[in-house]
Amino acid sequence: MKLVNQQLIKNNNLKTLYHYIHQDPGISRAQLAKISGLSKTTVSSLVDEMIERKFIQDTGTSEEFSAVGRKPNGLQLLHGQHYIVVIAWTKKEIHAKLVDICGMIVRDAGCAVKEPDTYVELSQKLFQELLSSDFPETKILGICVVVPAMIDATRQEIFATTLYLSPDKQQPFLENLKIAFSDYPLAILNDTACAAYAEKVYTKIPYPDFAYINFQHGIGAALFIQDRLLGQATASYTQFGHYSIDPEGKQCSCGNKGCLELMIGENAIRERLLAAGCCSPILQNEKITYGDLSSCALYGDPAAQKVLKEMAKDFSLALSNLVCIVHPKLIILGGKGKELGPLFLDTVTEVLKHTGFRQMLDSLQIRYSFLDSTAYFIGAMKYFFDIHYDFTQETNHFFIG
Ligand SMILES: [Zn+2]
Repeated sequence: MKLVNQQLIKNNNLKTLYHYIHQDPGISRAQLAKISGLSKTTVSSLVDEMIERKFIQDTGTSEEFSAVGRKPNGLQLLHGQHYIVVIAWTKKEIHAKLVDICGMIVRDAGCAVKEPDTYVELSQKLFQELLSSDFPETKILGICVVVPAMIDATRQEIFATTLYLSPDKQQPFLENLKIAFSDYPLAILNDTACAAYAEKVYTKIPYPDFAYINFQHGIGAALFIQDRLLGQATASYTQFGHYSIDPEGKQCSCGNKGCLELMIGENAIRERLLAAGCCSPILQNEKITYGDLSSCALYGDPAAQKVLKEMAKDFSLALSNLVCIVHPKLIILGGKGKELGPLFLDTVTEVLKHTGFRQMLDSLQIRYSFLDSTAYFIGAMKYFFDIHYDFTQETNHFFIG
């Protein structure tokens, strides 16, 4: 038991130091000791270990560099040494990426999903494709499988998903995954949670309480409360997309009526435009996206402007209630939501000035995501490394969320 505790403390200390070096490249050992509260001897020995294991490097003192202000004995992350494989499943495709723990995607592979229930075997093939024979396996710290689904850790199931699965049989996915990748530490994570984590780390969100709303096929939310991801990365604590904004509204597949994602999802746009008397050529598009709607509104189509504003009002209603429950200081609209453009965001901000619980809404900021659509791959890598990777022992654990 004593040994376990020592390992736990050492792992935490290594994570803390690595985090500070990530936040402040060029930091010195003395500065690390000061901000971490660890002794100089402990910092020195842990830093040496991380250098030895090729996680970081010491850029050293140099006359030339110190003249232009480089910090003495500056520590930096070392690129190109350790990787995490991130495999993302969607309805029609699988994408696998080899991500350096410093945040670079260095290789990728992908394939179409043509038959139901084939995700695990296709993932195995992509994994092998990604790691060609010249790539040493010891450099892989773990594997993340990212799914657009809620993950039930207790029942070991995924549900509420758009994945291509047979309707009549519940696949033992998690069990099959464990067997397929039994040689590595493996985590199954929700896509919205990974996108939210990327935003937190890489856009340096200063608030411990914030919400990330992901507009994809459905609408998902990830909530950080006191700096922790609520429900970890399982998405099993919230179904924001199925928040009803009209109890008398259209029937949703979930059994509820007037669900948010049914009312303001991309599939709802055509019907709303027709109801608003739109006669724009975008109605001839096979599918009308948020981007199409936003462009049409931007170029002055009154029906498109009306629909965009009404969708913003619908969204604001759900948002103001969310704020009453968890009081985030910042709300980020990510995924395809970014394509809704300035009119949508301005309307949401304006509506929230007049609805909901004032004291909580007055301090609320809302913005679009600063990251691109592949950010959740990097987010998954970083989440795995920060939360599940263990510096002190080699494990082949399976992590849910
Ligand atoms: Zn629903």
